Amino acid sequence: MAQTVKITAIKKLTHDVLKITTEKTEALSYFPGQAADISINKKDWQQEMRPFTFTSLPEDDIIEFTIKVYPLHKGVTQQIHSLVPGDELIIHEVFGDIAYKGEGIFIAGGAGITPFIAILKQLEKEGKIGNNKLIFANKTKADIILEDKFHKLLGNNFINILSDENIPGYEHGYITAELIKQQLNANDQFFYICGPEPMMQTVEKHLSLLGISKDHIVKEAF
Ligand SMILES: Cc1cc2nc3c(=O)[nH]c(=O)nc-3n(C[C@H](O)[C@H](O)[C@H](O)COP(=O)(O)OP(=O)(O)OC[C@H]3O[C@@H](n4cnc5c(N)ncnc54)[C@H](O)[C@@H]3O)c2cc1C
Repeated sequence: MAQTVKITAIKKLTHDVLKITTEKTEALSYFPGQAADISINKKDWQQEMRPFTFTSLPEDDIIEFTIKVYPLHKGVTQQIHSLVPGDELIIHEVFGDIAYKGEGIFIAGGAGITPFIAILKQLEKEGKIGNNKLIFANKTKADIILEDKFHKLLGNNFINILSDENIPGYEHGYITAELIKQQLNANDQFFYICGPEPMMQTVEKHLSLLGISKDHIVKEAF
């Protein structure tokens, strides 16, 4: 059943990404990596649902979403851009294909980082970050969501790649098979991929070239 929740805080994480915190509803259950269809509780918008991932943990006493807004789309995220604390979201069906299965490499493009925010938070809480790695692809440095947090959490296991900027210390271009190969360190690693469809297809081709079997790939297209 749909749950209506009040927004308690909105914080800008990057120039176009918002962290939206809402009050918790006990009737809601989800696991790290899952998303829900969300709509805005305003006239004409209640039925306009879009999927967004929980970036809070199930046991937190709040709910959090990390949302990239597209003001030009004239859709739900444009509306989200103008929300203020006190406004309400409606949380509809919870779903999602991404769940943690074991140590490996997380490969995200843009807002595709959101399921990994939740999963890495959970691993941090349990003291199980281990040798997990994150390859995060963005256009520019300004687009990187939670860069400082991931640096602290993962150190050298956090690899940024920027397509539109060439900055020392950051990989430049698009994710290649070679870049992934450099990070491989065990035969039984899992590969978690989330991002726009074209990026996902390319990364899956790279993984196939590297001999990674499909049952070691966990993915969701955004
Ligand atoms: C399982 C899942 C989980 C997700 N989780 C998250 C998350 O946690 N955070 C996050 O930020 N995103 C997430 N996404 C992506 C998110 O759902 C989309 O960004 C969101 O649906 C966009 O909604 P919108 O209404 O603003 O725009 P859209 O639905 O893309 O478009 C609205 C309107 O704008 C038009 N339009 C489309 N493209 C353009 C364009 N380039 N220029 C002008 N007009 C255009 C369309 O015709 C449409 O009428 C997730 C997606 C999936 C599948």
